[in-house]
Amino acid sequence: MVKSILRTSKEKVIVLTSYERGALYRFLFLYLGSVFILLAIIGYLFFRNNVAMMMNSTKYEMMYQAKKVSSKIIMSAMEGRKLDKIAFLEQLKPSRFDMGYYDTQKKSVYSTIRNFGDFNQSFLVKDGVCYAVLEDPSSHMGVRYIVVRESNLSGEIMHLRMRIISYLILSFIAMGIVGYFLARLFLSPVRHKIESLDRFISDTTHELNTPVSAILMTIQSLKGCDPKKLKRLEASAKRLSTVYGSLTYRLSGEGKEQKVEYLSLGRLVQERVEYVKELVDSKRLRIETKLDELVVHMDRESAIRLIDNLLSNAIKYSDPGGVITVMIRGKNLSVADEGIGIERSAQKDIFKRYKRANKERGGFGLGLDIVLAICKQYRIKVAVESEKGKGSRFILKFAPGVRQTPGTA
Ligand code: ADP
Repeated sequence: MVKSILRTSKEKVIVLTSYERGALYRFLFLYLGSVFILLAIIGYLFFRNNVAMMMNSTKYEMMYQAKKVSSKIIMSAMEGRKLDKIAFLEQLKPSRFDMGYYDTQKKSVYSTIRNFGDFNQSFLVKDGVCYAVLEDPSSHMGVRYIVVRESNLSGEIMHLRMRIISYLILSFIAMGIVGYFLARLFLSPVRHKIESLDRFISDTTHELNTPVSAILMTIQSLKGCDPKKLKRLEASAKRLSTVYGSLTYRLSGEGKEQKVEYLSLGRLVQERVEYVKELVDSKRLRIETKLDELVVHMDRESAIRLIDNLLSNAIKYSDPGGVITVMIRGKNLSVADEGIGIERSAQKDIFKRYKRANKERGGFGLGLDIVLAICKQYRIKVAVESEKGKGSRFILKFAPGVRQTPGTA
C-alpha cells in the first residue's frame, strides 16, 4: 500500500492512511492557498505604493533640477557675461539626469536627449523613461524649454518587483513550514485515537482465536445431532473465524512477512466457496461459479483475505433467495450479488477503514480496507459497480504480469 510518512517530535514514524493523507492535503491546500492569496494581495499593494512613491520623488527631484538650471541660466544672462553658450549649458548638467535645451521653435540648442518632441506636459513617462519639461517664457540665452530625462526608474521598479517576489517566496516557504507543523499538531490526536482503536480491536480479537478454533473442532466431532442445527452452528463458527482472520490480518498482521507463491486462483475461489457453503445454505442463497484458470503470484493468506472479504460481503448484503456469481474471465475476478446495493455517493468511501455505508447489517468497515490494501500491494485494480436495491459487483483486475493457463483448474 502506498503510504505517506510523517515524523513526530519523538521521531516516531507515523504511517498515514489514505484517509488521513486526504485530510492533510486538503488542510495544506486550503491553508497554503489562502496564505498565497493574502501574501499576493499584500505584495501587490506594497509594490504599487512604492512605485507611486518612487515616481513622485523622481518627479519632484527632476522639477527641482530643471528650476535650478533655469535660474542659473537667468542669472548668467542678467550678468551679461560673454561666455561659450554650449560649454556653459553642458556644465550645468546634473550627474544623474540627461538634459535638453530647446529654443522657441523647439529646436535643440544643446541636448543629450534624443528624439524628444512632447513639450506640452510638465511631466510624462514614456517607455519607462521620465521626462520633466520647464518653460522659460522670457527665453534667456535663447533657451525656451529645459527638458530633464531620467532613465533608471524602470530598472529600479524591476529591482523592487524582484525584491518583493523573493520576499513573497521566502514568506510562503516559511508559512508552508508553519503549516506543516500545524498539520502535524492537528493530525497527532486523530492518529492516537486510531491507534488506540486499532490496539483495542486487535487485543479483543486475540481473545477470539482459541474459542473459535475450539468450537470448529468440536463441531467436526459431534455425532448424532440434528444435521440442520449442526450446519447452522458450523456456518456461524466459520463466519466468526473469517471475521477473526480479517481483523488479525489488518490490525496485527501488517508488516508480517509474506510467502509469495504461484496460486491457481480458480481452485482457491472454489475452496473458499466450499468453506462458506453452510452460511450460504443457511441464508438460502445460491453461489454460481464460472471460473477460467488464472495463476497469480501472491501470498496465499492475502489471496484468501481478498476472496473471503468479497464473498462474505456478497453473502451479508444479499437477501434470502439471491444469487451470487463468482467469475474469473481473463485476468478479472468478479463477485456479483443481487443484494441491497450501494448508493452512488457512498461508493468512493467504502474502501476506507471503518467506513460503512450500511447501518442495518453488522460489520467493522474493515473488509474493503483490507481488499484495497492487498490490491495496492499486488498492483490489482479494483472497481465497484452497484445500484441501490439491485445489487453490487466487485471486480479485481490483476496486473498483466500474472499467468493465465487455460484449462488447468
Ligand atoms: P463491513 O461490511 O464490515 O461494514 P466492508 O469494509 O467490508 O465493511 O464494507 C464497507 C461498506 O461497503 C459496508 O458497510 C457496506 O455498506 C458496503 N458494501 C460492501 N460490500 C457490499 C455489497 N456486496 N453489497 C452492498 N454493500 C456493500
